[in-house]
Amino acid sequence: MADVVGLVPTMGALHRGHASLIEQARRDCETVVVSIFVNPLQFGSGEDLSRYPRHLEADLEFAEQTGADIIFAPPEREIYPKPTTITIDAGRLGEVLCGQSRPGHFSGVATIVVKLLNIVSPAKAYFGEKDWQQLVVVKAVAQELSLDVKIVAVPTVREPDGLAISSRNEYLAPSERMAAAAIYAALSRARDLIVKGEANATKIKRAAEELIAAQPRLKLEYFSICRPDDLAEMESVSGEVLVAAAVFAGKTRLIDNLLVKP
Ligand code: AMP
Repeated sequence: MADVVGLVPTMGALHRGHASLIEQARRDCETVVVSIFVNPLQFGSGEDLSRYPRHLEADLEFAEQTGADIIFAPPEREIYPKPTTITIDAGRLGEVLCGQSRPGHFSGVATIVVKLLNIVSPAKAYFGEKDWQQLVVVKAVAQELSLDVKIVAVPTVREPDGLAISSRNEYLAPSERMAAAAIYAALSRARDLIVKGEANATKIKRAAEELIAAQPRLKLEYFSICRPDDLAEMESVSGEVLVAAAVFAGKTRLIDNLLVKP
């Protein structure tokens, strides 16, 4: 059998969410490559690039124990030997939802993903549903640029109270961490209303946003009800929908989503 290579791109500070991607790749592929690279191109000015958690030693051990064969952790100068002049425009998919407050972010994501795919040449690449918009952008890049790779989506791994696991959870003060559970509660309330047959997106959002507003340590950036495949906002809910939110807990920006099947 051909040596199927699977790539799991990460920015390090590995946790159980990343482990789930590595384990899926381990089940599917002969060779599992985990990349660890904090990509400056996807951080805006004033974002957390300089303080993004970096734990390379611990990550190497974690990735190996979780089933990685090869860990690719290049220095920045190897990936960007000179200032980038060519980037990939993620188009409309990169402008909605998180793209509104993070202009250029998804272009940075698309560019590093294509570079990593070209360097590693995997047959399969693994991405978390936690970053749904990223997944949609990466799938579009692979399809529209005719890349010879299968993009595999892996479900979100959560803490017991529902909070999606994220490297950025490390930033949270205990009170912010407690409040952050309301993000999943709000998404779940929206899901429950949709499942019960509520179709009015404004009503659903209002009910969900109440749970965020009740937490003084949280500040909502957006709460969206949109089509999962093209992220088009919905006013009247029908068929499969994505409920997605971006919320600040103190200074930390957290995102999460749920796919709702009627
Ligand atoms: P990051 O290191 O945050 O860039 O994430 C690397 C990959 O892991 C991305 O494809 C993420 O979507 C995925 N990921 C991060 N957190 C989770 C999680 N809690 N569950 C599943 N996948 C995740």
